[in-house]
Amino acid sequence: MNKESPGMFLKAIGFVRNRLKELPNRDFDYKKAVSEIVIDSSLTEALDRLDEFSHIIVLYWMHKAVTSQLRTKVHVRGKQELPLVGLFATRSPHRPNPIGMTTVRLSERQGNILQVEGLDAIDGTPVVDIKPYIPRGDSPTDARVPQWITSQQSTSRMLINIYHQLMTHYGTQHWWPAREPFEVIVGAILTQSAAWTNVAKAIANLKSANALSPVALRQLPQHEVADLIHPCGYYNAKALKLKSLVNWLGKNYNDDLDKLFDNDIDLLRQQLLSIHGIGEETADSIILYAAHKPIFVIDAYTRRIISRIGLISENSYAAYQTLFMDNLPTDTRLFNEYHALLVRLAKDACHKRPLCQQCCLNNLCQFYIGGRLEKD
Ligand code: SF4
Repeated sequence: MNKESPGMFLKAIGFVRNRLKELPNRDFDYKKAVSEIVIDSSLTEALDRLDEFSHIIVLYWMHKAVTSQLRTKVHVRGKQELPLVGLFATRSPHRPNPIGMTTVRLSERQGNILQVEGLDAIDGTPVVDIKPYIPRGDSPTDARVPQWITSQQSTSRMLINIYHQLMTHYGTQHWWPAREPFEVIVGAILTQSAAWTNVAKAIANLKSANALSPVALRQLPQHEVADLIHPCGYYNAKALKLKSLVNWLGKNYNDDLDKLFDNDIDLLRQQLLSIHGIGEETADSIILYAAHKPIFVIDAYTRRIISRIGLISENSYAAYQTLFMDNLPTDTRLFNEYHALLVRLAKDACHKRPLCQQCCLNNLCQFYIGGRLEKD
C-alpha cells in the first residue's frame, strides 16, 4: 500500500535563546550549555508548577538540519568505522521530520522563560513541546540497547544513565546518617573497614558518655576512647586517629569547623590528608558530607562497579575520581546521592560474586553483556 500520509500542522510554542549561533562540531559537549527557552507569553500559565520538576523533556524543530536527499541508512554518529544502521535506529538530525528531543535540567523559571542546562539546540531553534521528566515512566529499568551504542556512548552520558537507572530503581538514599558535621567526621573515621551498624553503636557510646565533641575527646585518655568505640573494630588504631584529629583541630582551628570548611576544596583536602589516619576516601567523605562541598568519593564498591561496567582501565583513586568529576556536573547533591546509590547497588547485587540477573545496570554492564558470568 502506498497511500500518502496526511500533512500535519505544528505550531512553535517558543524558541531557544543561547550563545550557539551555528551548529557546533559533533564532539561539542552540550551538558554544561546553558540556554533559555522563551515560551510564547500566551502560554505562560501553562508553565505553572513545572519548576517543581528538576528535569524536563524538550521537543524542538531542528530548523538547520538538511532533510532533502534523505538517506535511510546511516553510519552511527556519521563515523564510517561504526555500523551502518537504519536511520530510525539513530538520533541523526537529518530525518523526515527533524524533531529533536533532549532531557535537560530545569534550573529556573521566570514567567515565560525557562533556564535549562544541557539542551543540544542552537539559538533560535523553535520549541515544539515541553513535558516533565518523570523517572518512573521515562527511564525503564529493563531498557536494552545494542552493544554498538554502549561502546560508543560518551562517558558522561553513560555516567548519567547509570545514575538515573540507580535512582529509578532504589530512590533517594538520604545520606549521610549523622546530622552534626563533627559527628560526620567521626563517623568517616570509624567506618574505615567497618559496617555502619557497628559505627552507629560506637557513636551512640560516645554520645552517652558526652564524648562526642573535640574538647571531650581531647580530655579523655586514649584507652577510654578505645573502649567507647570498641564495637566498630580496630578500636586502638581508630582511637589514636580520633585523638590526632581533635588535637589538630584544636591547635589549628580552635575547634571551629566553619573556619576549617571556609577553605577551598583543594586546601581543605590537603589539610585533612595531613592528619594521621585520614586518607583520600575519608578526606573526601568529610568534604562532601560534612563540609557539603562537591567532590566525588571513591571507595572499593565504586571501583568494583565502574570497572565491571567497563568505564575505566586504570586503577588509581585519582583516575576514578577524575572520571566522575570530569564527566558530571559539579553538584554536591548529585555526588552525595550518586555515591550512596553505588554503595546500595554493591550491597544489593554487585557483590564479589555478582547477582547480575537482578541488577538494574545489567543492560549497560560489559561484565554482564560480555558474558563474563554464567547467565544461567
Ligand atoms: S551487571 Fe553484574 S557486574 Fe555489572 S554492575 Fe550489575 S551486578 Fe555488577
